[in-house]
Amino acid sequence: MKALLVAAMAAFLASIVWGSIVSAQPVPPRINVRAIVVDSGWYSALPLNPAAATEAYLQRVPAEARSRGDAFTATRYITLASRVAILMASVALIMFSGAAASLRDLARRWVPYLWMQDALFALFLFTALFLLNLPIETYAGFVRLRLAGFTQRTYLDWLGEAVLGWAVITAFYVVGVILIMRLIRRRPGSWVGWATLVYLVLSSFYVLISPQYIEPLFNSITPLADGPEKEAILSLARANGVPAHEVFVRDASRQSDLLNAHVSGIGGTAQIVLDDNTIAKTPKAEFELVMAHEIGHYVLAHIPKGIVFDTLVSGLGFVFIGWGAQRLIARHGRRWKVAGLGDTAAMPVFWGLLLLWGFVSLPINNSISREQEAEADNYGINASRQPLGLAEFMIRDADAANLDPSWLEEWLLYDHPSARQRIFAAMRWRAEHRSATGP
Ligand SMILES: [Zn+2]
Repeated sequence: MKALLVAAMAAFLASIVWGSIVSAQPVPPRINVRAIVVDSGWYSALPLNPAAATEAYLQRVPAEARSRGDAFTATRYITLASRVAILMASVALIMFSGAAASLRDLARRWVPYLWMQDALFALFLFTALFLLNLPIETYAGFVRLRLAGFTQRTYLDWLGEAVLGWAVITAFYVVGVILIMRLIRRRPGSWVGWATLVYLVLSSFYVLISPQYIEPLFNSITPLADGPEKEAILSLARANGVPAHEVFVRDASRQSDLLNAHVSGIGGTAQIVLDDNTIAKTPKAEFELVMAHEIGHYVLAHIPKGIVFDTLVSGLGFVFIGWGAQRLIARHGRRWKVAGLGDTAAMPVFWGLLLLWGFVSLPINNSISREQEAEADNYGINASRQPLGLAEFMIRDADAANLDPSWLEEWLLYDHPSARQRIFAAMRWRAEHRSATGP
């Protein structure tokens, strides 16, 4: 117990010190890839052959931006590997130090019912994990973005948002854990199926309330002002059978100056949201392509389909947890003072295996996501007829991504196709539609 407290406090203090030091340093300037303008001669010389045209786009990016993009992508891999290592170390610390058994006994003394003990224990657990993970999350969410010049925000601003995000997601986790622990005890033979159902209900509810109740906690999301941009987007939506009356803008510049847009919600709560950066910093062709891509996600029902795939993958995860937890508890249960998976103090093992499954199944989830993104790109180009818009958009934040990863990296770690793949798809469309679109 003492070891856990010391480790959690040390992790917290180290994060504050690290974040404050980085906050005090000036933000280095980015390489302004966006300012590189080519004349109409460049477009008329752009080869029709898709592979050659893709090369021409990649060649336009300065070597220094490419190497910064590669280095930034490497920080994603460092983050991923560190998260796995810290997760395993944290769960081992909580179990082997005896903290899990002590916290369970404490919860038993403090509150009467088993579900309340589970809830209290879950709060201890999620607080401990937040603190133990704070150094790596500080790196992932703040330090590496500041050092790359993508954000001007201070550490305190970031930390406040991280705590709020933790509080929101913890509310969902606690409810899920209480229900699943109860199912493990009452239906030991069939809990995996029931837990999958709980997962489906909670994740659908989260997605459903996200646009109106969760996203506004982090950003102000306002309707786009009337004008030619809004009219162009609504016209594109109507042409594609989307009953939208409003386009939303998110003040994403609060967090960073990278370009993005997204769709959230399901059914009646669905909305398409453009980031203020994207509106301010991209010309018409790209802006239309981005909106058409998001309309594609909506029309192709990617969010509901994503929930179904995600639930199937998590169902496999519960099978993995059942198998793994049984073996771990059979081996170490006596030392941990844990009787079985239904014991409140087994929760860290359950949770650790669930997160571990999240890492193991990353290539499956990434492959599903890449497939959907490629579909949305095709839809977007077909609807906006702006293949050059996609190619241009892909090199605007060239210093933030490895544009041309190996197929293995892309397969394992990319949730969008790489810039090379997306530019190639756009150039292929252009070659096949030459007569329809001019250059
Ligand atoms: Zn997308």
